[in-house]
Amino acid sequence: MFGKILIANRGEIALRIQRACREMGIKTVAVHSTADADAKYVRLADESVCIGPAQSQLSYLNIPAIISAAEVTDAEAIHPGYGFLSENADFAERVEKSGFTFIGPRAESIRLMGDKVSAKQAMRDAGVPCVPGSDGALPDNSQDILQIAREIGYPVIIKAAGGGGGRGMRVVRTEAALLTSVNMTKEEARVAFGNPTVYMEKFLENPRHIEIQVLSDNFQNAVYLGERDCSMQRRNQKVLEEAPAFGISRKQIDRLGSRCVEACRRIGYRGAGTFEFLYENGEFYFIEMNTRVQVEHPVTELVTGVDIVREQIRIAAGERLTIKQRDIEIRGHAIECRINAEDPFTFIPSPGRVTAWHLPGGPGIRIDTHVFTGYSVPPYYDSMIGKIIAHGDTREQAIARMRVALSELAVEGIKTNTKLHRELLADERFFQGGTSIHYLEEKLRQRAASQR
Ligand code: ADP
Repeated sequence: MFGKILIANRGEIALRIQRACREMGIKTVAVHSTADADAKYVRLADESVCIGPAQSQLSYLNIPAIISAAEVTDAEAIHPGYGFLSENADFAERVEKSGFTFIGPRAESIRLMGDKVSAKQAMRDAGVPCVPGSDGALPDNSQDILQIAREIGYPVIIKAAGGGGGRGMRVVRTEAALLTSVNMTKEEARVAFGNPTVYMEKFLENPRHIEIQVLSDNFQNAVYLGERDCSMQRRNQKVLEEAPAFGISRKQIDRLGSRCVEACRRIGYRGAGTFEFLYENGEFYFIEMNTRVQVEHPVTELVTGVDIVREQIRIAAGERLTIKQRDIEIRGHAIECRINAEDPFTFIPSPGRVTAWHLPGGPGIRIDTHVFTGYSVPPYYDSMIGKIIAHGDTREQAIARMRVALSELAVEGIKTNTKLHRELLADERFFQGGTSIHYLEEKLRQRAASQR
């Protein structure tokens, strides 16, 4: 096992990873920007290194600075968390070439899955169901593009091969709009992702977002830890997640999970990963794979009892998975609310000093956050400042516990989206379960209209 791990991230996930390390008796190195010098996990770390100024480009995305920090502190491995460099294949490669272990998959796997065109191809080859679409990158010829769209049938969605974070996508409903949309998406993709490759998929009108969590070691052992429903989204960003997914049979999940595990073995996948699917009319369609730990991993941890971050570290250290598929049982139900420092109506970020911070507790409540009273939320990074996760024997109990937790949460000094979560937890359609990825946007439109 490693003696010392450098955590190349910030915020709640830096603290989450640190907790796993400390529990395992591993020393930690926190790297931070000048804006995060006073963070709780920086103080709790065995060592800390300032890697640059506030702007991510110069600190959390600064590969040479992070590698140097690992060198001067004699860290053996680097955990990238999520976001920042976590899905950067060049970073994974540089880490390994510099003699450290990257806590994540091999650079080839990140590269394969980071390109959505090659990822879809690999999944099709492994028998994972995909959204009908162009068999790869769109050709240059206009007539061919029009023909592909006719075969798929409108509406279609044009997606950037290198896209991510909900960006680089455009829905096209008529043939008249197709070629302009393709060209615009290409141009945007070239600027934003440095890769103008785009592909086309059938646009599913009202799907749910269901994802499968996997763990895979270096010895061809792979397991799936059930599914998560992340359909509650705003601008393609998840707001609330739950496990298991309401109304989908275990049998269907098991069939899908087995395919994902098979895909892991085929591509020699190592570590934790998530296969994301759209689910409509009883069918699953693969959209992408995330080759890292995800924000919403705690809901899976609560229903399976598996510590995903600990397993990531064990796998990276070359240990075998100790859990077998038959040992994995889904117990009860878990829901996660992402707490963002933002206005609950306009969604404008609300950084600043937290003057009061009262957290809920009680049976089945887990809180992952790095915030404390007196902490200043810096304006430079993602607005998510913590997560409340509620677990219960049933979905109803998890909802009831989350409602109580949200009623106890009190934050002063900055605005948070807590009010939105309270509304969601009181929403009749949410309570019934199985809402689609458009439900929240629709609800927000109605809310805005009723306030006018
Ligand atoms: P990203 O990497 O940017 O997250 P994804 O491919 O995972 O991109 O898609 C993000 C979201 O966009 C999905 O969760 C879904 O809401 C929507 N989306 C993507 N592909 C389709 C599709 N073919 N039909 C309908 N919605 C889609």
